[in-house]
Amino acid sequence: MKTVYHFGGDARHDDPRDAERQADKTVTGGKGANLAEMARIGLPVPPGFTITTEESLRYLRDGADFSDELRGQVADALAHIERSVGKTFGDAGDPLLVSVRSGARVSMPGMMDTVLNLGLNDETVQGLARASGDERFAWDSYRRFIQMYSDVVLGIDHGLFEETLEIAKEDKGLYADTELSAEDWHALVGEFKAIVETELGKPFPQDVFDQLWGAIAAVFDSWDSDRAKVYRRLNDIPADWGTAVNVQAMVFGNMGDTSATGVAFTRDPATGEKVFYGEYLINAQGEDVVAGIRTPQYLTSAAREKAGAKPLSMEEAMPEAYSELARVFDLLENHYRDMQDIEFTVERGKLWMLQTRSGKRTAKAALKMAVDMVEEGLIAREEAVRRVDPMALDQLLHPTLDPDAPREVLTTGLPASPGAAAGRLVLDADTAEQWTSRGDKVILVRVETSPEDIHGMHAAQGILTARGGMTSHAAVVARGMGRPCVSGASAVSIDRSARTLRIGTRELKEGDEITLDGAKGQVMMGIVPTVEPQLAGDFGTLMEWADALRRMRVRTNAETPDDCRMARQFGAEGIGLCRTEHMFFDAGRISAVRQMILADDEAGRRRALEQLLPEQRADFTAIFDVMAGLPCTIRLLDPPLHEFLPTRDAEFEELADATGLGVDHLKRRAEELHEFNPMLGHRGCRLGITFPEIYEMQARAIFEAACDVQAESGEAPLPEIMVPLVATRRELQILRTLIENVARQVFEEKGAQIDYLVGTMIELPRAALMAGEIAHEGAFFSFGTNDLTQTTLGVSRDDSARFLAPYVEKGIFSRDPFVSLDIDGVGQLVELAAERGRATRSDIKLGICGEHGGDPASIAFCEKVGLDYVSASPYRVPIARLAAAQAAL
Ligand code: PEP
Ligand code: MG
Repeated sequence: MKTVYHFGGDARHDDPRDAERQADKTVTGGKGANLAEMARIGLPVPPGFTITTEESLRYLRDGADFSDELRGQVADALAHIERSVGKTFGDAGDPLLVSVRSGARVSMPGMMDTVLNLGLNDETVQGLARASGDERFAWDSYRRFIQMYSDVVLGIDHGLFEETLEIAKEDKGLYADTELSAEDWHALVGEFKAIVETELGKPFPQDVFDQLWGAIAAVFDSWDSDRAKVYRRLNDIPADWGTAVNVQAMVFGNMGDTSATGVAFTRDPATGEKVFYGEYLINAQGEDVVAGIRTPQYLTSAAREKAGAKPLSMEEAMPEAYSELARVFDLLENHYRDMQDIEFTVERGKLWMLQTRSGKRTAKAALKMAVDMVEEGLIAREEAVRRVDPMALDQLLHPTLDPDAPREVLTTGLPASPGAAAGRLVLDADTAEQWTSRGDKVILVRVETSPEDIHGMHAAQGILTARGGMTSHAAVVARGMGRPCVSGASAVSIDRSARTLRIGTRELKEGDEITLDGAKGQVMMGIVPTVEPQLAGDFGTLMEWADALRRMRVRTNAETPDDCRMARQFGAEGIGLCRTEHMFFDAGRISAVRQMILADDEAGRRRALEQLLPEQRADFTAIFDVMAGLPCTIRLLDPPLHEFLPTRDAEFEELADATGLGVDHLKRRAEELHEFNPMLGHRGCRLGITFPEIYEMQARAIFEAACDVQAESGEAPLPEIMVPLVATRRELQILRTLIENVARQVFEEKGAQIDYLVGTMIELPRAALMAGEIAHEGAFFSFGTNDLTQTTLGVSRDDSARFLAPYVEKGIFSRDPFVSLDIDGVGQLVELAAERGRATRSDIKLGICGEHGGDPASIAFCEKVGLDYVSASPYRVPIARLAAAQAAL
């Protein structure tokens, strides 16, 4: 089977299966598949070849060895490039130079990225100079090659080369790289080679084939680098995808003033606006734009004018190449029916395409583009709904900076990724991670970021860089992660040894609080107040489409009227879980709760419960007012009683005063309540079985409140009274009878009647197994997947943080099972309980109220097993609505 595929030039396939494989990103990676596709539809793509992802996995498995088969196919592919461009690799007269890039299925910072100008050595550089008629260009290319190859392939610190270059410029009194002459670069090549020899103990490789195989090996090896592993973990990318390698004939953006290189998006990736957006640099090579070494210029004259910038835009400086580029943009967007992120080079006036891919975007831009593209007739509503990542909505649901709040603006950089972020400034990625893990909110401030900073960027609320443009590493990664980012804030200078920051005349130290406005590019002193998010506009439109496409209902986990109101604004269609224990902690009533728990007998408990009844009733009235007309699942008391007990002496004394019992007596009672394994102890429905008066009081409060709200507003909620931690049919039978008796009494007393249901949580494996029996007693099941995960895996939900990370790293769990449902294991119990429950009671209501109800992958599973609804915390409700729609598509 072929594992090397040609593209561009005279590439074609004898076997149609090869065409299919080449178009398949899982085989040729994103970059390789798209390069071949661009060439196929007639766009100007320099010829090259792709080594498949399978080869990288084979290489890593075989202990870093290339097969003879691969060597043979690469030789053929190289001959294809040579034929297409009429140059020979390693030819001292007119050498073919190539670029080598990695290309996984999805773009992955952390992987070896690019080596340019490969094929240069002490001889071929002379040939390049002669053939191009440009000495300076040839030596500049050679030094770039040594610099890049040494960094990414040979692992030599790139700072050594940069320092040498800086010193050379200083010696000559020069500022920009472009001011250096052919002789200067020639001299630097000598110095660079000396650095390599010192660092490596051997000379820079002169054999062009050694160079090529070295670069290919570096790409393969980078799949298993620490940085790549971190990125894979954060983004759920499996280790067995592997990476492809793309080798492509070089085209040169550094051949003088008619040459350029650039990065562009077919729409604005920050706002979603339908405008070409990007940056370019005249007389430069690709890494100059991304690395922020020179400040790139605007692509369009409109963008330049808007920014009030001086240097000519590409539209003005190279009108012909620009209009060709604009034509290609339209072609590509229509072809891929999505916003494209493009790399291009102009070599002596001719445009070449080096990459296209679906561009990373902010959540706001994703929404706008999805809605716009439906309106433009480019995609259908289903596709628009499918395209927006539900988790990305999170960015839009959180508060933004209050436009009316005073701002002390320290400086303004580029608005690289929108959103508001505030926190303590930190100067490196490790500190960002450490401070965040101890509970601080931090802003990571760097000169510029690199793939080594990914963990810190992830930990931080926002990112500020002193250098780099809108397509710099910081900007691209921040947008992808949904972190606000201000890049290229050139007034910022960092003193790493003093751990301080100077912004203009102000000096700040690590730990000082700052605020970023990523949409405006502003950096502000202190914490600026925020306002609630806007839920209309594109957000509202897309959510409407999603609602029309989903089958499952979406409810919320909430226990205060405020949370309920917020959840309804976010589109919740009822309460899926109201945890009543939180109401017991209220300052005004904890004393009555404690009296109830510590009472010696039933009479004592009833006295305390009488005090609690009006309070509980008021809780439910307030909630039912907000949720009138909607189903509300209220869970009866669940946690072990000792969680409510006093611990401090002052609390015991207060309780002694209230009850007239002695402090010692109370302390003894509290000790008696101690449990060794409380999560498996006296909790859940066991409380209702042993102390029925507690559940009686709660049921009474619920029914009285529902009747009151109905009398008042004419509309009652639908209470669904839920019994926790049931393991047997008999438990639920006893408690259902208790609840029904209270209902009858209340309805008689009030002369009213409301509809209600009694049901149970399924959160123990036995309950799942016995669901067919239990369904005789309950009208609904709600899967409590937090406890069901804990009890099925035998992993404590409160202690797992200590050991789960290595479990995920080692691939024992693909994700934290408390975040994303263990579908293979716990999922089986859910599926089986749903089936058995329905077999007994065909109209049984089924829902989920564990944390998994807000996780898109788990929601997809809930759709598959046919649950009626998912329930999520208020901020997750829109995420769940969209995920439920995607699951139904
Ligand atoms: C559950 O166990 O999944 C659940 C929702 O209940 P809690 O988290 O309150 O134990
Ligand atoms: Mg539970």
